[in-house]
Amino acid sequence: MPVYKAEAIVLHQRALGESDRIVTLFTRENGKLRAVAKGVRRPTSRLGGRIEPFTHARLMLARGRTLDVIAQAEIVRAFGGVRKDLFRAAYAAYIVELVDRGLAERDRHEDVFLLAGDALEKLDRGRAEDAEIVTLWFGLRLAGLLGYQPETSACVECGRRLPRARGVAEHWAFSPPNGGALCPSCRPHDAQAMSVSCGVLGACEYLTTAPDGQWGRLRITPAQRAELGRLVQVHLEHRLEVRLRAPQVIKRLAEAPPA
Ligand SMILES: [Zn+2]
Repeated sequence: MPVYKAEAIVLHQRALGESDRIVTLFTRENGKLRAVAKGVRRPTSRLGGRIEPFTHARLMLARGRTLDVIAQAEIVRAFGGVRKDLFRAAYAAYIVELVDRGLAERDRHEDVFLLAGDALEKLDRGRAEDAEIVTLWFGLRLAGLLGYQPETSACVECGRRLPRARGVAEHWAFSPPNGGALCPSCRPHDAQAMSVSCGVLGACEYLTTAPDGQWGRLRITPAQRAELGRLVQVHLEHRLEVRLRAPQVIKRLAEAPPA
């Protein structure tokens, strides 16, 4: 069997037969692909701990007739901080779900690979309270790389610029079908428009366009962050034509009484 090397982020895995797993990988070289990890559920397997979800690994794969087989794995970044914390893990699951749903198999996207690794790194090393904003930043940047960046600097219907002053009380909205903002005059013509404050549309614009590394300067209230989270989720669900699972898990976690 011919073998090849790949650098990958592990998206998820599921059991196969007695002791194997099917692992969904997002590789730098070949995009998303599924591969078999043989014998990994045996306690003696050396491979098992190296292909956990979210792990960034260097792999050796053997071409198979249907699915390729993971022959060797070496961890590049384990992202242990993500795995140890329930909330960080839930946001990491959001990131990998977006990659999984957003890309077709064998569709090479090195820019998305680098972005996903960067976002997981920020989740792993950053402050726990920034986990949500890191994930929303990732979702917006991913949308841009896949060609459906939301337009939130101006009304998508008439082109009117979003007011820049803080605390403007105008009733703007976001249109999922149009993928952008609607001004108070245009919003009544869109039955699916959802109300969004000007501050949140501005925050969305900032996260989408701010130079990398400066997104952390964004100052928004918890209520605005929740509103931004809904906007990003609705936009991505509309574009990807899916219902995302991870945001629902995060919502349930946030609502659960502290242990
Ligand atoms: Zn308008």
